[in-house]
Amino acid sequence: MLSMEHINKQFGDLKVLKDISLHVQQGKVIVIVGPSGSGKTTLLRCLNVLEQPESGSVTIDNQTLNFSKKVSKKQIRDFRKQTGMVFQTYNLFPHLNAIQNVMEGPVTVQKVDKARARDKAAELLTKVGLQEKVNVYPYQLSGGQQQRVGIARAMAIDPKVMLFDEPTSALDPELVGEVLRVMRGLANEGMTMVVVTHEMNFAKEVADEVIFMDEGAIVERGAPIDLFGHPKEQRTRQFLNLIN
Ligand code: ADP
Repeated sequence: MLSMEHINKQFGDLKVLKDISLHVQQGKVIVIVGPSGSGKTTLLRCLNVLEQPESGSVTIDNQTLNFSKKVSKKQIRDFRKQTGMVFQTYNLFPHLNAIQNVMEGPVTVQKVDKARARDKAAELLTKVGLQEKVNVYPYQLSGGQQQRVGIARAMAIDPKVMLFDEPTSALDPELVGEVLRVMRGLANEGMTMVVVTHEMNFAKEVADEVIFMDEGAIVERGAPIDLFGHPKEQRTRQFLNLIN
């Protein structure tokens, strides 16, 4: 479903991703963990081409972008439509209410007619538990509710893969659970997901594979029971000791 082959990305002289390869089967959940600055966000941003790597390729379904060649803006736009991204901060449009925020992508990007987009947005808001809040503006919503609108909005374009970049790290602790519940629900429905998070319990319960990154490289990967229970690498052990 999704793969990344030999991706290299640098900012100036700083090598942020060093020969990263990654494969995700349809319906699987991959969780990426690692210290701050290890390249997790950049990896996600390369998957939906918010950042363009210097070399390597990414494939989703049967579309491939090979960054060793010139990639056009249209190719990037088409490729990006396959992914839904949820950010640490919700980035909702402040002047649009919840349902308008969710409809925005389908109406402007996919040219779906407004009535259909509205029905679908209402369905998605129900799915994330916000059926009562369709006409409410972002400033009237809690952080957890805003992030659930963010998830509904990312889902509205029928992505093949959902990418989550620390979706709960800006939330007050009591609001984290409601967002993780929605994410668990998506995973249970068979959504293919790549999740960067510090929520180790979520990783243990939901991930099919956990990837530990450090300094731009994948240090270790495995089933959560193995990576958390019996980490092989010293650097993984150190990281897990620090966060536990
Ligand atoms: P993580 O998500 O693991 O915290 P990031 O992918 O955000 O790591 O960052 C990896 C490294 O790349 C960091 O050293 C960061 O400062 C650097 N970096 C990220 N984005 C940029 C950018 N746009 N310009 C320059 N350096 C960047």
